[in-house]
Amino acid sequence: MRFRAEGIVFKGLPFGEADMIMTIFTREKGFVRAFAKSPRKTKSRFGSALEPFSYIRLSLWGKENAELPKLIQADIIHPFQKLREELGCFLRISEIFEMTSMLIPEHVRQPGLFNMLIDTLKMQEADCKNPKAILCYKIKMLAAAGFMPRLSGCGRCESTGRRFHFREGSVLCDNCGGQNNPVNEFELSQGAIKLFETLRLWDWNKLNRVVPTTTLAKELNMLLDLHIRYRLEKGLKTRDFIEKIRT
Ligand SMILES: [Zn+2]
Repeated sequence: MRFRAEGIVFKGLPFGEADMIMTIFTREKGFVRAFAKSPRKTKSRFGSALEPFSYIRLSLWGKENAELPKLIQADIIHPFQKLREELGCFLRISEIFEMTSMLIPEHVRQPGLFNMLIDTLKMQEADCKNPKAILCYKIKMLAAAGFMPRLSGCGRCESTGRRFHFREGSVLCDNCGGQNNPVNEFELSQGAIKLFETLRLWDWNKLNRVVPTTTLAKELNMLLDLHIRYRLEKGLKTRDFIEKIRT
């Protein structure tokens, strides 16, 4: 049967001489993998629709719930070409794509997260240096994956605390958290906790009114990345790559 969807191209794995196995995040079915015949040939009917980050309308062919349906059509709704042209921007988007594909299982519908990803890409296209949309997307993605960190008060007794314990996925107060252990915890500033709470509860449409300082955005971003890394129990390739070129 034929199945139509809207999706964002995550990645393509070359297969054989000119074919590809595509990973696409769709609004209708969540993550799907699909076989694309000859997209790497110059005169491919897919044109540039299968470039990473492209927002496309697609048709799949195969039995319902087929492991690897065939991609028979892909038309660009929005290319997001600008996001592929600047290295820093490309790496930041690649990183959230990698996190999403690792945290969200295949064939699980996430229409809210899908729409948010489109909005995030649009905001990044308008201003690639603004960290706010990326931060906000990471928080919503963690909520969708069931890994939302708790920063507002101790996870055990609810009193005030600023030390985030990775194993607990929560801030703990000094009583409950015991001795300082910098390897397993991350001390947050009051400002970073407040920023997290604002972004977590904020209506996406009013996001323009939140203007975090670079320092707070960096601090919160680092905490979220470490938390995600801990949850996945392995490093993310893009982030490691970013760290390598920074040093
Ligand atoms: Zn406590």
